[in-house]
Amino acid sequence: MVIEIRRVSKRFGDFVAVDEADFGIRRGEFFSMLGPSGCGKTTTLRMIAGFEQPSSGEVRLDGQDVSRVPPYKRHVNTVFQQYALFPHMSVFDNVAFGPRSTKVPKGEIAERVRTMLEVVRLADFANRKPTQLSGGQQQRVALARALVNYPSALLLDEPLGALDLKLRQTMQLELKRIQREVGITFVFVTHDQEEALTMSDRIAVMNEGRVEQIGSPEEIYHRPATVFVAGFIGVANLIPTRVGDLGSGRATVEASGHRFSVPLTDASLTTGDPAVVMVRPERLHLGLAEPGGDHAAVATTITDLVFQGPVLRCALRTDAGTELVAHIGPEDDLPMLRPGDRLWASWDHDAACLLRAAPTPDRKSTRLNSSH
Ligand code: ATP
Repeated sequence: MVIEIRRVSKRFGDFVAVDEADFGIRRGEFFSMLGPSGCGKTTTLRMIAGFEQPSSGEVRLDGQDVSRVPPYKRHVNTVFQQYALFPHMSVFDNVAFGPRSTKVPKGEIAERVRTMLEVVRLADFANRKPTQLSGGQQQRVALARALVNYPSALLLDEPLGALDLKLRQTMQLELKRIQREVGITFVFVTHDQEEALTMSDRIAVMNEGRVEQIGSPEEIYHRPATVFVAGFIGVANLIPTRVGDLGSGRATVEASGHRFSVPLTDASLTTGDPAVVMVRPERLHLGLAEPGGDHAAVATTITDLVFQGPVLRCALRTDAGTELVAHIGPEDDLPMLRPGDRLWASWDHDAACLLRAAPTPDRKSTRLNSSH
C-alpha cells in the first residue's frame, strides 16, 4: 500500500467531517473518492496532502506515519481545480519549476521536462505562455508540473470541474492514459459518478463523513453495499420487502404479492429484517406474459414512456405502489405500449441484490436522540 488511512477522523468543532475512515490505496492504482457535496472527500484528500491534520487516527505514506509532517515534506503532489500556472513563465519553465527548486542537475531537468511534456502531448507547446493555451492544455501543463518530480502519489481535487462537458470527457480518458503511462498512484476526488466509473481502478463511495463502500466500478455498480451507494451510482430500482428464509447464499423474499429468491451479499441480514431488492433498469425485462423458470417477476402498470434515443425509458408502478424504471431496446419484442398497459417486469434471479432498508429520517433521529 502506498497510502494507508488508519481509523482517521476529522472534526471541525462539534462537526464530524470524516468519521473513522480506514482503507489503503495501492501503488500504481487510480483510486477515486466519490460522494455528494460535503461528504468529506476533500477533507480526506487534504489530510493525505498534509493541509489538514487528523483529529484522531493515522495517515501513512510509503510505510511512514506522516500525520504530523507538513505538506512540502510529503512525497505527494496536488492538482486543484484552479491550476494556478505561473502566467509570466513558458510551459517549459512552469514544468521545470519543481525540479529546479529541488536542485536536480540542469541536463536532467531539461530531459525530464521534455519527457513529461511528451506524456501530456504538449511537446510542441514548450515555449508558449499559459494564456496562449486552451483550458484542457493548461490542465495538462498543471499535470506535467505535478508529475515531473515522480511523486509517490498525485492527488487530484475535482481537476476537471472547470472544463465544459465535451472537454471534460476527453480529459477523463486522457488522465487515465497518462496515469497508466507514468504508473504513479492517482487519488482523485469527484462528485460525478460517471467520471469515477470511467477512470478508476477502485472507488471509495463516501456519505456524511463515512466510507460506505470501496470496490471496483463493477462491484460498486452491480453489488452496492448500501441503498445510498445503489442510488448514488446510476439508477436503482428499489423494491421494499422483508428478509424471508435464508439458505445457500440466498434469501427468499416476498414483494408486491410475489415470492422469489435473491442472492445474499450482505451477511448481516437476518430473517425478518426490513430490506430492499435492488435491480438496475437495464436488467429488467418487460413482457405481456408472466415469465416462468429462473426469473423473478412482479406485475406492473406503465405510468410513462420517454424516447431516449437508443432506448425507450419506461416508468412502471407495481401493484404495491413501488415505482420502477426499465429500458426497452430494439431486441425487446413488444407491441406498441401506452401508459396504463399492464406488463410483467422480470429479472434473472442473480441480477438483483438484497440491501438493508435505509432508516427513515424519523427513525434516524430517534436513534440519534436515544444515543444521547
Ligand atoms: P465538496 O464536493 O462540496 O467539496 P466534500 O465532500 O469535498 O464536498 P469537504 O470539503 O470534505 O466535503 O467537507 C466536509 C464537511 O466538512 C462539509 O460539511 C464542510 O462544510 C466541513 N468543513 C470542511 N472544512 C471545514 C473547516 N475548515 N471548518 C469547518 N467545517 C469544515
